[in-house]
Amino acid sequence: MEQLNQPETIQLNSSDRLIKPSLLSLDVQDLPAWQNQSYRQKQLATWIYDQGRYEFADMNNVPKAWRGELAEQYAILPFVSMERYASKDGSTRYLFYLADGKKTEAVFMPYKNRKTLCISSMVGCPAGCSFCATGAMGFGRNLTDAEIIGQILAVAGQEGILPKDIRNVVLMGMGEALLNYDNALKAIKRMISPQALDMSPRRITLSTVGLPKQIRRLADEQLSLVLAVSLHAPDEETRKKIIPTAHSHSLEDIRRSLWYWQEEIGRRITIEYTMLEGINDNLWQAKELVTWLRGLTSHVNLIPFNSWQQSGFKSTAHADILAFQDVLEQAGISVSIRFSRGQDAGAACGQLALNN
Ligand code: SF4
Repeated sequence: MEQLNQPETIQLNSSDRLIKPSLLSLDVQDLPAWQNQSYRQKQLATWIYDQGRYEFADMNNVPKAWRGELAEQYAILPFVSMERYASKDGSTRYLFYLADGKKTEAVFMPYKNRKTLCISSMVGCPAGCSFCATGAMGFGRNLTDAEIIGQILAVAGQEGILPKDIRNVVLMGMGEALLNYDNALKAIKRMISPQALDMSPRRITLSTVGLPKQIRRLADEQLSLVLAVSLHAPDEETRKKIIPTAHSHSLEDIRRSLWYWQEEIGRRITIEYTMLEGINDNLWQAKELVTWLRGLTSHVNLIPFNSWQQSGFKSTAHADILAFQDVLEQAGISVSIRFSRGQDAGAACGQLALNN
């Protein structure tokens, strides 16, 4: 693992402001209004979600007396501070300090035609996957809806862009979003709301370790999200070794819930598969994955393992990843190799929080 770059620290709030409720936890129609003038809610929403401002003092078409009242009663960003770790490849990793001293992470990845942000839904993660730095931290707590959506606004501000310039969001950072179901869903609905961030649900990816009951429940919400399933092994024995939740949910149960998702939502499913040398990278496992995927419309992402200290795992050699990919392709499965960005900025999810 490379040494992390020195971060830049950005103070966002004094912690006393954070005991105040964040306006990001309210739907636009529930925002405060000045003297019963409902258009003031729209005005606030425009400053926050269109202009990306999180200081009431900047809102110069809002009556000054009301700005003072708002600042006394509310905060906008629910973070004390954030640290910014820039990577040579253009991606940037952010570590957020929360009001209770806990930390969570996001990573900003600008591409030629789009800007993507990977955000967290928890501090740590209870799923405890053995190859994951976040899993090694254990579970801190669920993030609130304001802390989930706040990552988008805070990162946009630091990147010098507007919140709506970030058109792709992946809930693939710290945490299992489906175990923080209510807050994750509230945040997603605010991302999609035309009055708030007005994102297309088709550009929001929710990653899960594979929780059948919650996948069905999410399908019933009828949101056209991208569902990414962290499969990482096509056989029960290997999966149970690396993913503790595999003891409670069989691969067959997961597959049935994905069929249900596909029936309801009609979109292909992304399968995440981290390549771990000698664990899940045998060619018989590639063939078993082909069998498991039968009946599903899917795209498989093979992810070279991003090594971190004490993980005890190594990434599969590139030639072996290509051989694994070839088996899938020969069977007509859409597959790509996804390289992690920000290797010099602590790109393994949870690596920043674990080391700070
Ligand atoms: S891989 Fe995902 S679900 Fe597993 S411990 Fe890490 S964050 Fe949690």
